[in-house]
Amino acid sequence: MQPMSGMPSQDGRDPVEREARFVIPATVEQVVLVASLFWALAANRPFFAAALHGRDSADPATWGFVLAVAVMLVAVHFLVLVLVSNRWTVKPVLAVLVIATAFATYYMARFGVYLDPSMLRNVLRTDATEARELLAPALLAQLLLYAGVPLLLLWRVRIVNRSWPKATLVRAAALLAAFAVAIAALLAVFQPMASLMRNHREVRYLITPANMLWSLGAVAAADARGVAVPRQPIALDAKPGPAWAQRRRPMVVVLVIGETARAANWGLNGYARQTTPQLATLPVINFSDVTSCGTNTEVSLPCMFAPVGRRDYDEARIRGTEGVLHVLARAGVAVHWRDNQSGCKGVCDGLSNDSVQSLNAPGLCSDGRCLDEGLAYGLDQRLEKAQGAQLLVLHQLGNHGPSYFRRYPKSFARFQPACENDDLQRCSRDEIVNAYDNALLYTDHVLAHLIQLLRARAASVDSMLLYVSDHGESLGENRLFLHGMPYAIAPDVQTKVPMVMWLSDGMRGALGLDLDCLRRRAALPAAHDHLFHTLLGVLDVSTALYEPRWDLTHDCRAPALAAQSR
Ligand SMILES: [Zn+2]
Repeated sequence: MQPMSGMPSQDGRDPVEREARFVIPATVEQVVLVASLFWALAANRPFFAAALHGRDSADPATWGFVLAVAVMLVAVHFLVLVLVSNRWTVKPVLAVLVIATAFATYYMARFGVYLDPSMLRNVLRTDATEARELLAPALLAQLLLYAGVPLLLLWRVRIVNRSWPKATLVRAAALLAAFAVAIAALLAVFQPMASLMRNHREVRYLITPANMLWSLGAVAAADARGVAVPRQPIALDAKPGPAWAQRRRPMVVVLVIGETARAANWGLNGYARQTTPQLATLPVINFSDVTSCGTNTEVSLPCMFAPVGRRDYDEARIRGTEGVLHVLARAGVAVHWRDNQSGCKGVCDGLSNDSVQSLNAPGLCSDGRCLDEGLAYGLDQRLEKAQGAQLLVLHQLGNHGPSYFRRYPKSFARFQPACENDDLQRCSRDEIVNAYDNALLYTDHVLAHLIQLLRARAASVDSMLLYVSDHGESLGENRLFLHGMPYAIAPDVQTKVPMVMWLSDGMRGALGLDLDCLRRRAALPAAHDHLFHTLLGVLDVSTALYEPRWDLTHDCRAPALAAQSR
């Protein structure tokens, strides 16, 4: 029988009263204070580890420092959250943050991730397939503990109803008190804190969940600026250069944008393992010291197509203006972008493009992912019909982690045992490196296959292949995994990338290129910054934006060589 309201139920208690037993009455300020305390203590282990680096744990001053910093974290989070909370918003705001923070702390602790604006942008652009690969059983336990329990408590909180004059008064007093506490705590540790922030500015991106709120605000502000202003066209003077009139054959440049391949594991660079056996048998030119513009795709991709990239880095300018693909298209080069990943990040907007997924290449796609061989699909027919000057950009899935083992067919699983778990923590470092190297073997195969296709048509089409990776990867060095470290402190393994060039004989002749000269150039430092000008030089598009010293081929082409010998 359903007990009626006010009627004693079987256990002798009023149901209204029984429900009230599980309710936690609290004010907005109390709830926010508890949440701030919880996060300061439970979500900031990486921050405290970084802040305490080099300090003696036996020294009482260290404990004073820890206490003051913890108080400061609580006060700052309290201040920010109280400002956006009232009795209606406090629970939804905290609920979203509880979940986001549980995810964030997991990845920060596991992979050494810093949640700066560029990392957050990367996270926001993660597609469903990428997200699925990042989910691991250990994450579930973390979520249950750090999100499940707090959410349960939050759910049972009933915000105390107060008259608005009283609520306003309490709010103002709480804000003032928090502000005073934050200042007092800051003054107590000002000296060490100031030197920490001066020497390791990136540490602030470990303060959780403030890092997410800050980065989210920065990304939203940048996007709002970007939406307000359409991409500015550049190089309006771009036009075909003098060589176009003399060409007898069509010219096709294939630019392969690699993913997460690092220079340190590249066979052609002298890695202990031969991870590039097929390229090693081909007459390719290997650039052995190439630096990427960023440590994640979101930064590197727009930057590598910009006229000025890392050498005078300005994210707003790069995102706000067109890149080299638009300049080439304006001069009459037929540009096509083929994607096997998460899109071109704006650099191919408005240009011809397709995705491997949409090609229905037989046997190459499953679970929303395709193997990189799909990038070559239909290339031979394209070469057969080729006219004029063409640039085909192929955006690889490459060594996209953490599931390296999903990036190659079984026949490339040469290095064993290879990690076959989406959760890297379940594998030994050797197994992780084995899977990573197997994925490189597959990229080696894809590139060699593309070169074979170009070679087979070399009698009728002058062609070139240029491969460069977008950024590197950490494979457990200094306990770091994956990539995306703030650029200033990123290890070399995340910023040094492989780059390889191949040219058909006809192409070499058309460019008047001295290969020995280019080989010597390839041993010197190069960077993503060279891409814009090298493409303009090779495809002979003239514009005032072209800077010969950033064109890797310039000094090795006939007119420059002739000028040198004069
Ligand atoms: Zn990438």
